Amino acid sequence: MIYLDNAATTKPKQAVIDAINKCLIETWGNPSSLHTVGKAAKKVVDENRKIVADFIGAKPSEIIFTSGACEANSLALCGLLNRGDYTLITTNIEHKSIMNLAGDYLYESDRLYVDKDGFVDLGALDRCLKSAVYTTPLVSIQYANNEIGTIQNMQAISGLVHYYGGILHTDATQLIPDRKIDITSIDMMSFSGQKLGAPKGIGVLYVKDGIELEPIIYGSQENSRRGGTENVPYIAGLGAAIRDIQYLTGEVRDYFAQQVLARIPDCYLVGAKDERRLKNNASICFRGVSGELLLLMLNERGIYASAGSACNHEPSHVLKAIGLSDEDIGSTVRFTFGYQTKDDVDFVVDNLAEIVGILRKFKK
Ligand code: PMP
Repeated sequence: MIYLDNAATTKPKQAVIDAINKCLIETWGNPSSLHTVGKAAKKVVDENRKIVADFIGAKPSEIIFTSGACEANSLALCGLLNRGDYTLITTNIEHKSIMNLAGDYLYESDRLYVDKDGFVDLGALDRCLKSAVYTTPLVSIQYANNEIGTIQNMQAISGLVHYYGGILHTDATQLIPDRKIDITSIDMMSFSGQKLGAPKGIGVLYVKDGIELEPIIYGSQENSRRGGTENVPYIAGLGAAIRDIQYLTGEVRDYFAQQVLARIPDCYLVGAKDERRLKNNASICFRGVSGELLLLMLNERGIYASAGSACNHEPSHVLKAIGLSDEDIGSTVRFTFGYQTKDDVDFVVDNLAEIVGILRKFKK
């Protein structure tokens, strides 16, 4: 099989499975218990909190373990919005965990529109920040997009947000497995273990010291900011995934994109065309072809990709936001690479070329 859906989830690494098993067998205690069994579990949590903190250049006190990035996003935003006078500013290409929370659903928000490659308009951000000065602006902008791979200019965004006295949250779920992050200019950041070889069900919210959050799950754990007995095995798994992280070079994705564009007529790469794109992502529109049928036929041949994101089965709001027509949205497929080889790519492109040919022939 060739799994090209690493933006949805990644296969747990062997080192992660070993760390989880070891923890389940040896350190299964409750970290809040004061006896030796509890203390052993607490040691695992503390050690891995330090690994996570060091990895992003934060302090252990700034790390909150959550069940994933959806919860981390919800805690970051609701945790401040429930406290008082904030104006939420966000974009129209966020993950559903933020899209559904912002705007009509839960909280009023100012929406920032993006350009045809998915970049936030800094002039529009400046205008939103200016008009929010009677409250504290709370700006939430995804670091890298899960569908098209566009990476925002977070330094420039942070400069503007802080100039106006705002707080910057970013959902860095997709950027964390891609490159080293500089956290110094960010106030809050979410990510999820499942994108870097840890299992689903473990995530992190980084919160800069000094920012007080109202919990959304009440209890004494995580300094009373997130109740619930810590998921010690998965925390150990996340630490193991971080210790074992291997960044992609982007070479295989580049080879894939070149081959597809050269060999298959009438298709184009969606999103940024330079290094401001995740190294695993190739989102490609095959004009006039049903993306759904294409995915089904690839699936039959053991090649697994996706249309838009795994968490969103409606037509993609991201592709709409960057101006694709409904027809092109239905013809766009996302390939997100892991550790594939050029031979794997050749196999995928041969199959793609054949299937696209068949689907176009039958459409006529
Ligand atoms: N944000 C982004 C950008 C994501 O890609 C995902 C996972 N699809 C999430 C948030 C949610 O992560 P989880 O399902 O682990 O909570």
